[in-house]
Amino acid sequence: MKKITQVMPFIGNEELALITESIEARWLTEGPNAAAFLEHIRDYTGCKYVVLAPNGTLGLHLALLALDLPAGSEIIIPSFTFFGSASSAVFANLVPVFVDVDPETFNIDPARLEQAITPNTRAIMPVHVYGHSANMDAVMDVAARHGLKVIEDAAQAYGVIYKGRHCGTIGDIGVISFFADKTITMGEGAVVMTNDEATYTRLRYLRNQGRENSGTFIHDALGMNYRITDIQAATGLAQARKFPAVEKHKQTIHALYRELLEGVGDLSFLRVEDGSNLIPFRFCLRTAHREGLAAALDAAGVQTRSFFYPMHRQPPLEKYHRATNDMAVSERLYEEGLLLPVHIEVSEEDVHYMCDVVRRFFDQA
Ligand SMILES: *Cc1c(COP(=O)(O)O)cnc(C)c1O
Repeated sequence: MKKITQVMPFIGNEELALITESIEARWLTEGPNAAAFLEHIRDYTGCKYVVLAPNGTLGLHLALLALDLPAGSEIIIPSFTFFGSASSAVFANLVPVFVDVDPETFNIDPARLEQAITPNTRAIMPVHVYGHSANMDAVMDVAARHGLKVIEDAAQAYGVIYKGRHCGTIGDIGVISFFADKTITMGEGAVVMTNDEATYTRLRYLRNQGRENSGTFIHDALGMNYRITDIQAATGLAQARKFPAVEKHKQTIHALYRELLEGVGDLSFLRVEDGSNLIPFRFCLRTAHREGLAAALDAAGVQTRSFFYPMHRQPPLEKYHRATNDMAVSERLYEEGLLLPVHIEVSEEDVHYMCDVVRRFFDQA
């Protein structure tokens, strides 16, 4: 039977060649490939300052620490996101305040964002989910009017451009993840980006044991170890060079799904934010028959995933939920959302196969 997995990294000889270079140069910690990767990211995103982090969650943690907000400050986070957006805030001694998202773009709803501001609010964390941008004009406008910091969770947004600017470089600080299922990967890894020099200095001290450079035992500040290996950076560099092929493939596959599923059953789809491109993270669909459809796809050898389980319902985060913040959209998205794969090994034939399963399911229903 056919087997179509949800995720499949696009790795091969290009990665091996650069990893071998790291090993032959005997640079196991951040070395030449780390420097080359950072330069690539600065050139590609147009961001002035970029540092590496072990993964997206720790990247967000590092970024939040670098914002240097008073302990107990409130940070507004969409409920519809990955757990790491919220857990990093809690570990940075901040109080997450969850707000609902837009039913069509699945990203933070600017009107609800503004309603959730209190005298304790210090920051907003827009999340760019599923490969397109949040409404950053609106987010930046609210932030400016209320004097709030903006930290962008751009974990899924490598290659996503909003009105000419790369996601993660629009607010005060931003994070892109390179986990195995992200657009490009290092296995584990992330970058933290800022255009502010003082923030960059804090990031450097925080990530490297509170000192400017390694090789000294005098530590000017408190810091931790958020460094990575040159082998991870080598993988990231090879991946970044392959990104144009990834982008083209994902967009072709996504467009084909969209065409084949138009008007089928009760399906509805993501609406891409105005001013943003789409680097499809998955193919997202909504249906009132999610469980039945997922079972039909599973029986046909297709691995699906649900959408995010909302943050305000997560057992360790429920206590941050404000009953006055209506979460109807996040809850419905969880109940109705289904993700189909768009990775490099999904062929056009595979998309026809999966869409046939979907069509047959609704014909029989
Ligand atoms: C993947 C992801 C993260 C966390 O990144 P990791 O590298 O897996 O730690 C955070 N936020 C969002 C929206 C993500 O998709």
